[in-house]
Amino acid sequence: MRLILLGPPGAGKGTQAQRIVEKYGIPQLSTGDMLRAAVQAGTEVGKRADALMKAGKLVPDEVVNAIISERLDQPDCAKGFILDGFPRTLVQADATEAMLKDKGLELSSVIQIVVDDGILAHRVSGRYTCANCGAGYHDTDNKPSVEGVCDRCGSTHFKRRPDDNAETVVTRLQAYYKETSPLIGYYYAKGKLKSVDGMADIDHVTGEIEAILSKL
Ligand code: ADP
Ligand code: ADP
Ligand code: ZN
Repeated sequence: MRLILLGPPGAGKGTQAQRIVEKYGIPQLSTGDMLRAAVQAGTEVGKRADALMKAGKLVPDEVVNAIISERLDQPDCAKGFILDGFPRTLVQADATEAMLKDKGLELSSVIQIVVDDGILAHRVSGRYTCANCGAGYHDTDNKPSVEGVCDRCGSTHFKRRPDDNAETVVTRLQAYYKETSPLIGYYYAKGKLKSVDGMADIDHVTGEIEAILSKL
């Protein structure tokens, strides 16, 4: 199963990707996570990406294309993968197509998570993750069952992203409309696009995605 999750920042791509990972045992390839790891490690890529990410701007296509190309060659991608936050531009979409063609593979489906713009600042500014296992939470909409303790691993350490604030959301949403939203038409024209209602609660969205995956 080779999937792309498409949607603006805060739509719920990461949340749903984690659930697909658990159910189907295929890896989640999040360029955002990979870039944050590169920033943390202080690599050349990290140095290039840091300021752009803090400002809510996209990192250059050639940088993310190279990261994904390398990642797709890892053995755990052989049985499939979920692309989360990539591709984000038409150039990246064409590159994805070329990478898959090179390997004799085809995309299974592109799942668009549709949400109202008005909810995104709330989603993003309340977002935090477990510092140990990466499980995602929200201050009001998706709290751990015991306050301050990760449901998945029991850790009591959590973190927030420096770019998850109401100011960068505006820039990130602009980048989404300008650069990423054309991918909706791109994949629709290829007959790959499916949409789910991202305003529904998390379990309901998962149910809609599973219904799509069960028909692939
Ligand atoms: P993305 O990866 O698309 O940027 P996330 O999956 O990180 O988005 O979700 C953004 C925030 O919204 C997180 O705090 C998450 O817990 C919360 N969230 C995700 N899906 C829903 C939903 N369907 N309803 C309410 N909150 C959600
Ligand atoms: P979100 O799902 O909330 O938009 P991500 O974690 O996917 O956040 O991305 C965080 C930041 O990393 C983006 O604002 C951008 O600067 C950079 N980034 C991630 N993926 C890409 C990509 N495919 N192309 C360009 N920049 C990217
Ligand atoms: Zn955890």
